[in-house]
Amino acid sequence: MPTLSQKHRPKSFKDITGQTSITETLRKEVATEVLGHAYLFSGPRGVGKTTAARVFAKALNCEKPKAGEPCNECTLCMAANEGRCLDIIELDAATHTGVDTVRESIIEHVRFSPLMGKRKIYILDEVHMFSTSSWNALLKTLEEPPAYAFFILATTEWHKVPATIISRCQRFEFKRIEAERLAERLTWIAGEENWNVEPDVIDLIVSRADGCLRDAETLLGQLGSLGDPSTSSGPQKIDLKIAHLLIPESHLPLAEGLVKLWAARDHQGALQEIQRLFDDGIQILPLFDDLIQVIRGLLTNSSDQFTPHELSEIALLLLERRKDVKAGVDGLFALQLASTTIVFKILGGDKNQDPRHQEPEPTSLPTHQPTSLDLSVIRSKWPALIRAVDEKNHSLPFILKIARPEAVEGDKIVIRFQYPFHRDKIVTDVKHRRIVEECLAQVYGTPCSIEGIVGDPSTSSGQSQERSQDMVSNILNAFGGSIVES
Ligand SMILES: [Zn+2]
Repeated sequence: MPTLSQKHRPKSFKDITGQTSITETLRKEVATEVLGHAYLFSGPRGVGKTTAARVFAKALNCEKPKAGEPCNECTLCMAANEGRCLDIIELDAATHTGVDTVRESIIEHVRFSPLMGKRKIYILDEVHMFSTSSWNALLKTLEEPPAYAFFILATTEWHKVPATIISRCQRFEFKRIEAERLAERLTWIAGEENWNVEPDVIDLIVSRADGCLRDAETLLGQLGSLGDPSTSSGPQKIDLKIAHLLIPESHLPLAEGLVKLWAARDHQGALQEIQRLFDDGIQILPLFDDLIQVIRGLLTNSSDQFTPHELSEIALLLLERRKDVKAGVDGLFALQLASTTIVFKILGGDKNQDPRHQEPEPTSLPTHQPTSLDLSVIRSKWPALIRAVDEKNHSLPFILKIARPEAVEGDKIVIRFQYPFHRDKIVTDVKHRRIVEECLAQVYGTPCSIEGIVGDPSTSSGQSQERSQDMVSNILNAFGGSIVES
């Protein structure tokens, strides 16, 4: 059975989705017979390069073109539409045979005049896969092409095409297809197939396809085959329920809501929303994907809520935390941590409570009596330590916020870090260790040294969750917040 793309393949320039400026230029070239011998079609996969090449090839050989459009009625057009035109030669370099036979196929073949029409057209797909000898063979032909020979090269990676070839080609850069054009095309196909596809489903497919027409058509075709047309009386109905059997539900609006809370620097609100989504059973990993998509959208369409720097920092952080979740870190915790970092570190503080503007705790030695070190005192003064360190180095506080003072041995404080590189940055790096130790002496009023250990104290999931909670409390303590149960 043919795929939807094959079944509804555009037969004329005007039927091609998107790429209007390219198809218009090609049509005019055919109409005016002002033609080059070599064309390079570059751009992402699935956006119509081969389709445009086929229409163009057909138009070049059409006996009665109409203003540059193929007539689709003459013998040559019919032969081309049925894939049996001997003068249109398609070669896919992605297949081994393609690469191996490209020399013979082109060099030998091009010497013979066209068999059916006036021109011979070679459509060479995925040309970035060509070997050097293939390029050399093609170059020789392009230097002195027979008057009847035309070459259309298609590739997703034009930078891999030798400059000597590019300089002999008219280059057309195909773009991703706009959402609106994709939606029109899908709606039209659904009509042709007599499927009743809900507009929401069309939107869902379009958002999934990311500008790739072929992916969009494949998804629609898969959804269409989910129903059983033989038993339905009316047109086959495809609603969101059916669509979600195939396309995982997106939580973009929820992700947008969370991003808005970040934009408002509403730390509490964001944590509450994360908890609510979690309680509602939303999967955290796909939610990370949606958040990344929202931030990506804001990055590309300038946002007045965030600076580009903030957006890229947020995107990097979300990608990092997403990686952690994939590696097994608790999803809820990772998102809470990301949210806290975004509000306080990247965006500069909670709207209600900005730790930078709080009264600093007394940190200088005259105000402090030397005290013997005690773990509970160390933990309670940890936020003050972080603020003191922040005065001297802005990159260290974040690590200290998610680290935990674990034990005291004489004048030595043992700190547990989540990752080895965190320990290395704070403890192994002598310069950083000195900063932290100086600040410790200030805050606790007595000289002390530090030692680092890494990892969870336990491996059992129950205890590690407890530890996650502990770490959240640590962070919240550091920032003066609390988790609100919803
Ligand atoms: Zn024709």
